Amino acid sequence: MFRYTTISILFFIILFAMIILLQRQAIPAWSLAIPVTLYLLKLVLGSTLIGLNFYFFSYCKTKTNEKVIALTFDDGPHPVITPKLLDILEKHEAKATFFCLGKNIAENNSITKQTDKNGHLIGNHTFTHSKWFDLFSAKKMAAEIKATNKEIEHTIGKKPTLFRPPYGVTNPSLKKALEKTNMFSIGWSLRSFDAVRDKQKVLNKLKSKTKAGGVVLLHDTDEKIIPIIDEYLVWLKTNQFKIVSLDKLFNIEAYESA
Ligand SMILES: [Zn+2]
Repeated sequence: MFRYTTISILFFIILFAMIILLQRQAIPAWSLAIPVTLYLLKLVLGSTLIGLNFYFFSYCKTKTNEKVIALTFDDGPHPVITPKLLDILEKHEAKATFFCLGKNIAENNSITKQTDKNGHLIGNHTFTHSKWFDLFSAKKMAAEIKATNKEIEHTIGKKPTLFRPPYGVTNPSLKKALEKTNMFSIGWSLRSFDAVRDKQKVLNKLKSKTKAGGVVLLHDTDEKIIPIIDEYLVWLKTNQFKIVSLDKLFNIEAYESA
């Protein structure tokens, strides 16, 4: 049972008991605000922190004695950045997973083909990356996921199973949408904030927080990712970290078998 179900059951039992006590005037009315506030706070935290596995399970890290990590790049493909990134990864012989947007694949078909050809994995990160995605109905979410899968399948001939929720936001609607579309939810254990921080800050965080069995969240949407990844890959090698694909890290299939 997921934490959301357990906590909801617990919340309603407590609320019911308190309403009975309230009717007997054993407790003041304001005391009802305590469980309600705590419950709402928990729902918000569970929604924003993907690693809590609150509404459903997401692969974020694995326990291992080996110094292995997986790299992921979200929001591409980008017509300029992604090809440069592919060159850098090739130079360091590193394989990654690209969580692409359906609309970007449609515009940069050949880049996605090349990404697949170079041995990287292609995952689904919705079609539009709408700011309001977490407020969509399960049906609308599933439609975005399916449209992106179709775009990926049309481009590389394989139907993906890996999905990364936009902003890492999870909720009961997404749980339903992922069940409907048969996708694995992939989170992360290390967020670099590469889209908002400067190069040195990103590198400092990556170098100080990289841990065995982890998944690193990066983006192929800004030019600064190129020098960042170049330096980070050297650092990983110097520190004996081995880069593995997500499917190997979690022992799952990245594409549906034909
Ligand atoms: Zn994103």
